Amino acid sequence: MKNQPAGNVFLVTAPSGAGKSSLVNALLENDAGLQLSISCTTRAPREGEVDGRDYYFVSSDQFKAMRDGDELLEWAQVHDNFYGTPRAPLARALELGRDVLLEIDWQGAQQVRRMLQGVTGIFILPPSLDALESRLRARGKDSEEVISKRMAGASSEIAHAHEFEYVIINQEFSVALQQLEHIISSARLRYARQAVMNPALFDSFGLPR
Ligand code: 5GP
Repeated sequence: MKNQPAGNVFLVTAPSGAGKSSLVNALLENDAGLQLSISCTTRAPREGEVDGRDYYFVSSDQFKAMRDGDELLEWAQVHDNFYGTPRAPLARALELGRDVLLEIDWQGAQQVRRMLQGVTGIFILPPSLDALESRLRARGKDSEEVISKRMAGASSEIAHAHEFEYVIINQEFSVALQQLEHIISSARLRYARQAVMNPALFDSFGLPR
């Protein structure tokens, strides 16, 4: 049976280099009601990444133990590494009525949809494939081999964009950020969510919830 959490779940998916993390970070800075789900991964930290803030960086054995112990809501293998969403912090946040944003790939997004109702999926597209490749190069944090693997992976990620409710084309950062904020605001005004957050008011009007 699917759960109906009090908080909203937002899935944000994009091919690497579409600018997803910058958009999500800017969004989180301005929105105290929104919490990022911190994934665990077996990939090595990139320069500047902090354990417990960007990811929980774990060994393959630790990851397997979490997966086999049913501690992950979803998990997937992406570019030779494993990634997963810890179940407990997400469930706690949602019970408290907080909104949670998951930055995960299409495989994880499909799994979360099977388990939770009313999930809002947002797919971020780069303005073109060329723009995507330049962004991957400009980042300068990955080897050529990793970049070409990610370019190949980008097309297969993009092939799943139709599974998402919303699409943002990240041509202009400020415009894309505003569009993301609008989607979050709209989701908070959905009937089901308003009923959960304002039970006394809904009862006073005799509205079903
Ligand atoms: P990166 O290594 O560039 O941080 O992430 C690579 C890919 O893994 C991205 O598409 C990202 O969305 C995805 N990813 C990150 N965390 C998770 C997770 O917890 N679950 C799943 N399924 N994918 C994730």
